[in-house]
Amino acid sequence: MNALNKKTVEDIDVSGKRVLVRCDFNVPLKDGEITNDKRIVAALPTIEYLIEQGAKVILCSHLGRPKGEYKSEFSLAPVAKRLSQYLNREVQLADDENVVGENAKAIAASLENSQVMLLQNVRFRKEETKNEESFSKELASLADIFVNDAFGTAHRAHCSTTGVAAYLPAVCGYLIQKEITFMGTALQNPKRPLVAILGGAKVSDKIGVITNLLDKCDTLIIGGGMAYTFMKSLGYNIGTSLLEEEQVEAAGQMMKDAKAKGVKFIIPVDNKIGREYDENTEAKIVDSDNIPDGWMGLDIGPKTQQLFADAIKGAATIIWNGPMGVSEWDNFAAGTIAVAKAVAETGAVSIVGGGDSVAAVTKLGFSDKMSHISTGGGASLEFLEGKELPGIAALADKD
Ligand code: AMP
Repeated sequence: MNALNKKTVEDIDVSGKRVLVRCDFNVPLKDGEITNDKRIVAALPTIEYLIEQGAKVILCSHLGRPKGEYKSEFSLAPVAKRLSQYLNREVQLADDENVVGENAKAIAASLENSQVMLLQNVRFRKEETKNEESFSKELASLADIFVNDAFGTAHRAHCSTTGVAAYLPAVCGYLIQKEITFMGTALQNPKRPLVAILGGAKVSDKIGVITNLLDKCDTLIIGGGMAYTFMKSLGYNIGTSLLEEEQVEAAGQMMKDAKAKGVKFIIPVDNKIGREYDENTEAKIVDSDNIPDGWMGLDIGPKTQQLFADAIKGAATIIWNGPMGVSEWDNFAAGTIAVAKAVAETGAVSIVGGGDSVAAVTKLGFSDKMSHISTGGGASLEFLEGKELPGIAALADKD
């Protein structure tokens, strides 16, 4: 699959057509109120384009995990309300317990050009997550064209992300297009040097990404809890730091592979260590080959911040996923902040993914200094692993 070759909403005539759009409206709710609507805002460019083109717009999404049955707390009603405000027009919710029910059919049939409706939560149907043909066909029966714009669920083969594409001409929306353009170009044809920075808790979560990036990048930087498994493979004492014993051999092998491939592989040279896994624990800075027993590495140290910043400075493309330490705690956030600053200061194409790294960038006010902030956690990791995402593979290729 060449993700860069997918047809987009601009490659198909949508005017006067019924267009089913899979969005990611999986927003956080508290007492029925939306607490963060950035996913709704991210979906607007595609919806607005369809309205301008005079399409009849049928939106759909999942919200939370209702596990295949109607549950009012997972209703998309708050999303319909918020969308109506942003779009300055009524977005009618087809409130069918079975999603494609009498309301959905009637409203879809009566839509006029540039009108917008929203189906109920697709996960009210148990067939959705099993990608069963029956529900895919029901969804397809409402529309003439399918647009997938939900990158966050593109790695899942569900009825509304993949199944429905078998029955309708299927293209991507602007959000998916942006994700695949940035990440696809970084992987296939990056401006070099390409520097990848990986952090977070577990080697096992990112092993596929590291393996794929070893064939593509010029420099690979490892920070965060996962770095200690690499240090262990070098024979260092790592005290009580995070360790995945079963990954030590693989970690050592990856460093050897990097050397053989001519990839610069950088791990922390010093660390901020703590007595316990506690925000206010006693802390000190030590070199990586000098972590005492009974202490754990909770952030990279100042020498490492400088080392990483120097490597980042020379990059033309940067892929960053995962924090350099326990960045949720102010006492152990300095490494992640230093990397965010270094990335923000380069003129490189910068792609940031992963909840904690994105949170650090947002908190520091650097969001608009990054070329692209990925909207999909699991989906962006699978993309970086070089896997084919079913929700993208199902879309039509450009002629
Ligand atoms: P991930 O979801 O894999 O990106 O990992 C993010 C988590 O890794 C965050 O909750 C961090 O607190 C945690 N983390 C990062 N560095 C360390 C560390 N040195 N020790 C323990 N946890 C860490």
